[in-house]
Amino acid sequence: MKYALVRGGSRGIGRAVCIKLVSLDLHILINYKSNEKEALETLALIKQAGGSGELMQFDVSDPSQVESAINIWTEQHKDEYIEVLVNNAGIRKDVLLMWMEDDQWHDVMNTNLNGFFYLTRALLKNMLVKKYGRIINMVSLSGLKGLPGQVNYSAAKAAVIGATKALAQEIGKKNVTVNAVAPGFIKSDMTRDLNENELKSMIPLNRFGLPEEVAELVCFLASDKSSYITGEVISINGGLYS
Ligand code: NAP
Repeated sequence: MKYALVRGGSRGIGRAVCIKLVSLDLHILINYKSNEKEALETLALIKQAGGSGELMQFDVSDPSQVESAINIWTEQHKDEYIEVLVNNAGIRKDVLLMWMEDDQWHDVMNTNLNGFFYLTRALLKNMLVKKYGRIINMVSLSGLKGLPGQVNYSAAKAAVIGATKALAQEIGKKNVTVNAVAPGFIKSDMTRDLNENELKSMIPLNRFGLPEEVAELVCFLASDKSSYITGEVISINGGLYS
């Protein structure tokens, strides 16, 4: 069996990615933080699509939880490894920098940036040993352009972009690729508080994107078909910014 781990697979873009990865014959490990009901719904949708999967609860911002979850899985799957990692989970805590509290800065860094580090480090060794792996990091237009009110989130996403480019150069020789996907406005719980009707006039394609549209791109990067692409940041934003 081939395995993919989707960090933050219970809702939104991560859920759509889980369902789409079924087409690559991967067994999907659905990571989530606390929303078991939604994670179970993702699992049901994976099965409905003809695939298989299981839940893997841990808080990606807590290194001890990441280590213990991956150690337990590795112990139970001695000759197997996770060949696709989608670092999707993210949070935003928007506020102008002058009003930003320490925890608003650190929470966003811990989930978006440190979570990338803890989980990627934990899975990378086996990818290198097996000489095959695909890592896809969900970043954001905010990390490319910078958005006011999101200094914490823009900094975290920009840092993951830098890490993607550096890591690609470390691991390319072992046939492990790492790329970043930078969405603009995508319909999900994260953007529920934004007014699409007001914002869509800024977007050349005149609408928010769908999680399924992002999942198509992630699935391509997770597949053999993307074999000569690494260290790239691919925007998916309806033409909003490039
Ligand atoms: P979402 O609907 O809010 O879902 C967030 C997911 O991340 C959930 O599965 C959640 O699990 C999980 N998660 C959050 N914190 C976690 C933690 N500490 N440990 C493990 N899992 C955690 O978000 P989304 O809109 O799909 O966004 C997905 C990614 O795309 C994020 O990285 C986001 O920054 C990026 N992005 C989104 C947009 C957009 O317009 N939506 C634009 C650009 C970039 P629970 O269900 O358990 O809470």
